[in-house]
Amino acid sequence: MTGTVDGSVCKTGAEHLASLRDGRGVYIDGEQVEDVTTHPAFRNSVASAAALYDFQARPENLERMTFAPEGGGRRVNRCWQKPRTYQELVERRQALVLWAEQSGGFVGRSPDHVASSLLGQVIGIDVFRRHGDERAKALLDYFDYASRNDLFLTYVIINPQADRSKAWGEQDEELVAQVVDEDAAGITVRGAKMLGTSAIMANEVLVANLQPLRPGEEKLALSFAIPMATKGLKILSRKSYEAAAPSVFDNPISSRFDENDALIYFDDVKVPWERVFVYRDTDMCRAQFHDTLGHTFQNYQAQIRLSVKIRLLAGIARRLAETIGTARMPPISEELGWIAAQAAMVEGMVAGMEAAGHMQDGCWVPNKHLMYAAQVLTQELYPRIIDKIRGLAGGALIMLPSSARDFANPELAAIIDKTQRSPAARPDERVGFLKLAWDAIGSEFGSRHTQYEMFYAGARYVTCGHSFRTYDWAGAGALVDRLMAEQR
Ligand SMILES: Cc1cc2nc3c(=O)[nH]c(=O)nc-3n(C[C@H](O)[C@H](O)[C@H](O)COP(=O)(O)OP(=O)(O)OC[C@H]3O[C@@H](n4cnc5c(N)ncnc54)[C@H](O)[C@@H]3O)c2cc1C
Repeated sequence: MTGTVDGSVCKTGAEHLASLRDGRGVYIDGEQVEDVTTHPAFRNSVASAAALYDFQARPENLERMTFAPEGGGRRVNRCWQKPRTYQELVERRQALVLWAEQSGGFVGRSPDHVASSLLGQVIGIDVFRRHGDERAKALLDYFDYASRNDLFLTYVIINPQADRSKAWGEQDEELVAQVVDEDAAGITVRGAKMLGTSAIMANEVLVANLQPLRPGEEKLALSFAIPMATKGLKILSRKSYEAAAPSVFDNPISSRFDENDALIYFDDVKVPWERVFVYRDTDMCRAQFHDTLGHTFQNYQAQIRLSVKIRLLAGIARRLAETIGTARMPPISEELGWIAAQAAMVEGMVAGMEAAGHMQDGCWVPNKHLMYAAQVLTQELYPRIIDKIRGLAGGALIMLPSSARDFANPELAAIIDKTQRSPAARPDERVGFLKLAWDAIGSEFGSRHTQYEMFYAGARYVTCGHSFRTYDWAGAGALVDRLMAEQR
């Protein structure tokens, strides 16, 4: 991945596609995939990921999307940039918004997600130094390598559910990824991690433990990064929604932006020491995300991306009402007003995180509690918005031709033309829009997105726990004390 492949000033789509033809162990429908860039389960979504790099490489986008790293080399995406000022944080966010807009926010794990996590971890590198100079050097070197090569990283930081009434260390032997051997060259890892979204199209995977570990669970307490094509790394894809999509007309989103989720299994994978960031330290697994700014930056990116998606959903809601002629009815404009307020709230929370940020280790960093507050609010908001849009639609989302091929049959086309009526659109436009709306909110792909937005940052008890931990309770309590003092 190093060096210039084609003399371009930054990474291009062609370069990313070439990097994925590496013999990685992706499996679907019982077979190993030879080439994810051509396989019908993945090729369009992989092409959409590659298109992000072509987007940043366009001359008119280069300045907005990329920056020149210190010490020379090609320009790289702004997601790797340390924001030295409030203004730089805002400019970085504007680049992230432009990338999210390419998929309407439907790609949760675009390359800027894990890059943001690593950036936050590196801003807090002193936390790693306390864990050991070698581990801190490994992380710094890795950040340098990944950022200079503008790598697409995914991460697996959550364990397979199995039996939630037991601790991770009490699960069946070798279920959870763990160290089973070490020597002078590195460590050997066996076991699984729950899900790697975008794993089939990423260059490398960061492995870590976000869920709390107990003393005694040291063999699970690891963090490292390896290329997807590492020997023994098995990537077990879920069902492909892209493969089930008959055409871009019928499934305009899932046919192109099915980023995929895959169980990751480590079949005695060897990891060199220079790629090991945390080793046998349960508290350091927590500190990697929570004492550094890793968790803050990764979830700040997620809220930026979500703000784009909610904006798209607001657009779908309004277009839906216009399409079936209800937009001017007072109860419907009230619903649209509610959705618009939620879209503005999410964008406002992002702006608030930035404005209420502070300088830390030479960087302007987003406000942690506002980020956690947004997380709590939006994981409940997403299914509510989907429900509201369903409520606006009635049967419109279902009374649709089976596929674009119906239009090719003149007899059927005539009936479609007569029945797909709208005050705002031609019959073919009406069908096209309603298929887009269904893909976004009601299809199997759309349903996966509801599950994603409800859970990617952890179940509610987890996100509320972060909010509880980081709120300014002293400030709130002081107001209570003040009024109580006047009672005396
Ligand atoms: C679409 C999708 C994509 C994902 N992509 C990634 C990825 O790229 N990388 C990655 O690392 N992870 C990924 N994940 C995993 C995600 O981070 C987890 O699903 C999330 O952290 C929740 O953990 P869990 O699934 O184990 O659910 P649990 O934490 O087990 O929650 C399931 C239910 O059980 C309840 N519950 C469980 N334990 C308790 C408890 N102790 N107290 C109270 N209630 C409890 C919860 O409230 C919830 O109702 C993805 C998940 C989804 C759905």
